[in-house]
Amino acid sequence: MDEVRRVETVAVHAGNRVDPATGAVISPIHMSTTFRRNADGGYTDGLVYGRSDNPNRRALEECLAALEGGEVCAAFASGMAACAAILAALRPGDHMLLPEDVYHGVRSYVREFQSAWGLAWDSVDMTDVRAVRAALQPSTRLIWVETPSNPSLRISDIPAIAAIAHEHGALCVCDNTWATPIATRPLALGADLVMHSSTKYLGGHSDVMGGAVIAARDDDFFARVRAVQTMGGAVPSPFDCWLLLRSIRTLPWRMRAHTQNALALARALESHPAISKVHYPGLASHPGHEVAARQMALYGGMLSIEVRGGAAEAIAVTNRVRLFTVATSLGGVESLIEHRASVEGPLSPTPPTLLRISVGLEHPDDLIEDLLQALGEAVNGDR
Ligand SMILES: *Cc1c(COP(=O)(O)O)cnc(C)c1O
Repeated sequence: MDEVRRVETVAVHAGNRVDPATGAVISPIHMSTTFRRNADGGYTDGLVYGRSDNPNRRALEECLAALEGGEVCAAFASGMAACAAILAALRPGDHMLLPEDVYHGVRSYVREFQSAWGLAWDSVDMTDVRAVRAALQPSTRLIWVETPSNPSLRISDIPAIAAIAHEHGALCVCDNTWATPIATRPLALGADLVMHSSTKYLGGHSDVMGGAVIAARDDDFFARVRAVQTMGGAVPSPFDCWLLLRSIRTLPWRMRAHTQNALALARALESHPAISKVHYPGLASHPGHEVAARQMALYGGMLSIEVRGGAAEAIAVTNRVRLFTVATSLGGVESLIEHRASVEGPLSPTPPTLLRISVGLEHPDDLIEDLLQALGEAVNGDR
């Protein structure tokens, strides 16, 4: 596509070609792990072997690069595989800055492997630009941003942090899993790399694992990420790539509806007597609202609440919901709720009263009614 298309159009078309062999409107799934070598020693389309490349993976990567406005993309078998590829592309002695409330899988992974790899890191309040600057070391090579953050939905200022990274000769990486390119386009805001767990909103139906790294430039750093993908082999199956691409076709419209529902729920819960706090960047009361309004086109479908009392009161709410499913993960069409500290384990910095909610695509009034009854309040109305 040469013209600049709008995001809904890109989501529907990017990476798809009518199949020249059959005329099939939707690209078929290519399960073959190996590709024929031609008489001249070359390969049709440059495809050699399934670990290094596959037509469905290519199509997915083309689509994700287009959605994020990047030059290139590498798709992985999970979000953590994508994260691990970025870390593996660093060099021994490199230092990185992670948000205090970085996704717990990333924190555990770094803790587990950083010393073996000779990586150093510090965690910092990524919402505080001055603290980020103060935490830089001469060897800082990478600043990791996750906004909105998990599970407190803190908002980091991507342009400001990217500028700090660049002044310092470091890379700014943004985990864009929660926002999706429909809500935030970190590369346009100055970030160098975007990471996704496509298991979440990109997949959108809680039935496929995946991850991706999208880079603003096809440079040496990305070449190392690509090498980890093709040599390390944590690649998504052709079917997973096909399924993800199928889901991405509706992403812009799903994100609108997730956001609409989340905002309705946040507003309904904001003044509830059993709740001490609602964390949702779309609320004017949210400390990151102003930055969010600048860098987000939509506020997204995730929110968290703090229940008055302690862990027991919070867990009791999850035991009373009927429509919400008590489960981890996010981004599917069905609404989920979970007691986050229990999921993150003993080292979790998450308040014990916090419940994380992935707002699905049910009718918002049904979701509100269910939470109100779980919070122990009779639903208003003449029933
Ligand atoms: C789920 C998630 C990940 C990890 O992705 P997997 O697909 O589970 O490996 C990373 N970052 C964020 C923000 C996530 O929500």
